[in-house]
Amino acid sequence: MKDLENKWIIVGQGLAGSCLAWELWKRGVPFLLVDRGSGGSSRVAAGMINPITGKNFEPSWHIADFLPQALAFYAEIEPLIERRIWHGFPVLRLAESEKEWGKILSKIADPMVAPWVAREVSAPAGWVGAVKVCGGGRLDTRAFMDGSREFFQAQGCYETGDVSTNAPNMIWCDGAAGLMANKFGRHRCAKGEILTLHATGWDETQIRIGAGGWLVPLGGGHFKVGSTYEWNELDEIPTQKGRDRVEAIARKLGGDNFQIIAHDAGIRPILRRSQPLIGPLEQGGWMCNALGSKGSLYAPGMAKRLVRWLVDGTVPEPEVDLRVFLNHD
Ligand SMILES: Cc1cc2nc3c(=O)[nH]c(=O)nc-3n(C[C@H](O)[C@H](O)[C@H](O)COP(=O)(O)OP(=O)(O)OC[C@H]3O[C@@H](n4cnc5c(N)ncnc54)[C@H](O)[C@@H]3O)c2cc1C
Repeated sequence: MKDLENKWIIVGQGLAGSCLAWELWKRGVPFLLVDRGSGGSSRVAAGMINPITGKNFEPSWHIADFLPQALAFYAEIEPLIERRIWHGFPVLRLAESEKEWGKILSKIADPMVAPWVAREVSAPAGWVGAVKVCGGGRLDTRAFMDGSREFFQAQGCYETGDVSTNAPNMIWCDGAAGLMANKFGRHRCAKGEILTLHATGWDETQIRIGAGGWLVPLGGGHFKVGSTYEWNELDEIPTQKGRDRVEAIARKLGGDNFQIIAHDAGIRPILRRSQPLIGPLEQGGWMCNALGSKGSLYAPGMAKRLVRWLVDGTVPEPEVDLRVFLNHD
């Protein structure tokens, strides 16, 4: 690595590091993107964006702001890396119990929820109720990261390496690896396991969410299905227990006949739910991390905010400011 003092060094090329590199590149600001070349959550993620999530059927945090930013960003990058990365899909949200369905019905008319609900639809066999949610889809995270790496490699601003020392011009996008080193106090990182399947005759026109999991079509009879949450054994090793759990979700959301193509595990970088953070580090350098379970939604908007901060001096809203989170401002 040469001339390193005169450029930003982005440590980690997951969704956070990739988006940040593009935002610096668009501004013509010199940088070097460095990744150790293995592991990371973005490589295993399904890449799904679902505007209304969870048991409580709630809008994702600041969805109306971050979703248009993310979609515009992915549309801008696609021609530059010459591959399709965003696949829009309706989301079929299924309720397993009367209680869950009652909760969904009670939220449908909420002004924060209503814009994302296309309509109530008849529930498939085995489910109590169903609604169609609009605005969702899938980011092909691997295509995005592979395309970005090749693009920046060709421009001489990507290197493989394991960074172990800090410097004032470093921007740490090191995901769960960084949070688990307790750089920002107590973390809530969660391991997740995911299966890639092949199945014939399953519905490939929509994402299905229910029974505590999801089924995302990839095309050509392939699907991603997930996922587990495990807070204690934080490693990237797939387990039989995780596989059994995800297979049960696949049977519930898809059907009994499928072939498992791959079984992966990753660690979601979480500090407080799926609310990301950016900001300067006390010891020098900067960070962009804590994307939680929603990196596809939040990485583009957070990268834009961080580059405005670094280049223009525009401080972002306090909710995403690391200094406020750490109570150090
Ligand atoms: C099973 C599972 C399913 C998921 N599904 C979805 C989904 O459907 N939708 C969604 O939006 N999100 C999903 N997520 C969450 C998503 O993966 C994360 O929000 C996102 O990928 C985090 O990106 P990141 O760039 O912060 O971290 P990472 O992707 O982990 O990237 C960090 C990178 O930094 C590198 N690195 C770390 N330390 C160093 C170092 N010292 N030197 C050099 N390189 C280093 C790592 O190797 C890695 O490449 C899922 C996660 C899991 C585990």
